[in-house]
Order: sequence, then C-alpha cells, then structure tokens
Amino acid sequence: MNRMPVLFVGHGSPMNAIEDNEFSRAWTVAGKALPAPKAILCVSAHWETQGTQVTAMEKPRTIYDFYGFPPELYALTYSAPGSPELAQRVIDLVGADRIAPDLTWGLDHGAWSVLSRLFPKADVPVVQLSLDVGKNAQAHYDLGRQLQPLRDEGVLIVGSGNIVHNLRMVVFEDTAYDWAVSFDAKVKQWILDDNPEPIINYDRQGREAALAINSAEHYKPLLYTLGARDPGEPVHFFAEKVWGGSLSMRSVRIG
Ligand code: ZN
Repeated sequence: MNRMPVLFVGHGSPMNAIEDNEFSRAWTVAGKALPAPKAILCVSAHWETQGTQVTAMEKPRTIYDFYGFPPELYALTYSAPGSPELAQRVIDLVGADRIAPDLTWGLDHGAWSVLSRLFPKADVPVVQLSLDVGKNAQAHYDLGRQLQPLRDEGVLIVGSGNIVHNLRMVVFEDTAYDWAVSFDAKVKQWILDDNPEPIINYDRQGREAALAINSAEHYKPLLYTLGARDPGEPVHFFAEKVWGGSLSMRSVRIG
C-alpha cells in the first residue's frame, strides 16, 4: 500500500459542517483528492485528557460539544464505525504504559465537522486520539512521529484544530487581525521550509504567537501532523485564510 498523506484541518466554527462556504467546499475538494484510506486517526482539539487515550469502541457516538447553535447542527450524525483494531495498533506503537483505550468518548465536532466533508459517506472507520494535558509541545510532536508507520498501513492521520485560535478576540465576520495574519504566515513559511523547531517552540515566538495560541489545544493537533511528516515531503494548503479576526482556517496536506 502507498504511503498515506497526513492532514491538518483548520476547523473553525462547527457550522462549517452544514454551511456551504469557502471552507466547507475546500474540505470537500480535498477529500475527493485523497487516496482511499483503510481507517482514519483523528487528533482533535476538543478532546483533552490526563494521559493519552485512544477511542476503541465499535460505534463511536456523535458528540455535540458546543452550545447555542441551530437545531440542524444537532440533527447531524456522523455514523462512521470505530476501529478497535486500529486502537490496538496505536497502543502497540506507542506502548501500553503510555496510552489507554477509551470506550466513552466518540467523535467530537473537531472530528466530525471536518470528516463529514472529507468523507461524507462515513464509511471509513475513525479512531480519535486525545491530547494529554500533561505533555509539552515537543512530546506531542514526538508522539506524532511515533504514529508515522500508520501511514504505510493505509491510515490517514488528521489533525483538527486551528493554527491561530483566540476565542476571546473572535468577531463572527470575515475579517482578520494583523497579528493573526502575520503569525499564520510565519507558520506557513516554517511548514514550507520543513522547519518544525520554531513551530514546536511557539512559546518563544513573541507577542503574535501568544495572542494566536492563548490556549494551545487548537494548535497542538498541528504538531501531530508535522511529527508524522517525512523530510522534504511536499505540502499543499487546501485552505488558507484568517477568518473571524482570530481564527486561522489554514489547512495542510502533506504528501
Ligand atoms: Zn474547535
């Protein structure tokens, strides 16, 4: 089997799951361009735990982990099966003492809002990997590296978050703060240069980075995507825009 690409999707508002807009259309196009995966491993910003966990149930539920959205959004279910086999493979790769199976989570909107566009038939099994709140950025990146062999086994690794994500400053309209555009462009260039070091050490990148990553959970999934990258692999940005003032919708395909 050929090596699967790796994705990072800037997911933004859950409404992208049901709204026809430039981002949802870009995700649909990106999904059609992908080789068919055997399974998907999704690292979503919306699942943080003590210690790393991996979903291992046969039928993950659709989780509506947001408030105040219209009924159409709560009516959407994403019925992709789980994959206890992939969960076990992840546990074998990472080490049973460093990751635990989970039977209670499911698919949060970081996963399903994006996967419902990339794989609308919901026929590819999906497993989620949690973000361990006790890990630093380097450890998240290194864990992404450990997962790299999955790419040769037909598994599509999808990070889902936002490179710039500051909800305190968000304005729900098509606009962008200068600092957000600037930091997003820096990260773009570091990705193009295959230079993960400043991306991992984001806390040394000054005021723009501090504003962009005021809580790092939306940034961390990018570290998994980059960790699973081979040196020199081609990069394609299938969405790139700062929206809502402080949300980067930049989405990356590697390989
Ligand atoms: Zn989110």
